[in-house]
Amino acid sequence: MQISDSKGTVKLSNGIDMPYLGLGTYLTKEGNEVIDAVQIALEAGYRHIDTAAIYGNEIGVGNAIRASSINRSEIFVTTKVWNSKQGYDTTLKAFDASLQALQIDYLDLYLIHWPTKGKYKETWRALEKLYRDGIVKAIGVSNFHVHHLEDLLTTAEIVPMVNQVEYHPYLMQKPLTDFCAKHKIQYESWSPLMQGNITKVDLLNALAQKYQKTEAQIVIRWNLQNGVVVIPKSVKKERIISNANVFDFSISNEDMKAINALDKSYRFGANPDNFNF
Ligand code: NDP
Repeated sequence: MQISDSKGTVKLSNGIDMPYLGLGTYLTKEGNEVIDAVQIALEAGYRHIDTAAIYGNEIGVGNAIRASSINRSEIFVTTKVWNSKQGYDTTLKAFDASLQALQIDYLDLYLIHWPTKGKYKETWRALEKLYRDGIVKAIGVSNFHVHHLEDLLTTAEIVPMVNQVEYHPYLMQKPLTDFCAKHKIQYESWSPLMQGNITKVDLLNALAQKYQKTEAQIVIRWNLQNGVVVIPKSVKKERIISNANVFDFSISNEDMKAINALDKSYRFGANPDNFNF
């Protein structure tokens, strides 16, 4: 990944450019809260917004994008099909509902939100149709372990372009990152800021001091230097702006290794092998 500025991109396996910094919107409320957050992010140089049908804020995300002076073609929008909608026909309907809520005529990235047992292969077939129809520029999965990907690849005609999973200094999942790299599946991290817990980690406190940056900036930069697309969430103006201010420094190899060594396979979210939603 060549890291330049907040508008920089990584090329997906199908040639589509995906901005490596995006705004997360989980728990961001529909209406003014999400509209303001997306507008602030776009003004701060973000060109990528991550939402999902289940977040219930697609309408506001779309409103903010349309209200901005930035061309739709310059903004990368991701949404996801929720578990209860998985299956072939239901996914096609869910996709239409998301486009309708967002009020946009194509999507940049559509993801299977979780690997719902017995459903995700049919869901993937629907995503392949949407991709071939040209209404979505890239398709991918989320929360897929290696065994889910291996199973999917037994029937998939198109290899997912992205896998969006929990990833932060406490959870690196090396076998999964290696598998994705081998299959040219771009790794994308959710909960990169450990849901706000980064400030409780001594090493990150020390590195924040050393580089004169916040712990969030250290971790966002660490994601990028590891080649991972990153979507920190905030609804606070100062944080949205400062979380994107990570392009004027770089973390030394030694400090990258020290952060990598924090990995203890710890999850803040559900394990994709035993989620119950
Ligand atoms: P994050 O790791 O991005 O952390 C968000 C939390 O950190 C919020 O409480 C936020 O509070 C706080 N925060 C933001 N900036 C800072 C900062 N500079 N210093 C200290 N605290 C800060 O967690 P998320 O779970 O939201 O993950 C990011 C995104 O990933 C989601 O929003 C969503 O888009 C996606 N996601 C996808 C999932 C999936 O299954 N595919 C699952 C979970 C998330 P505040 O808003 O008050 O600033």
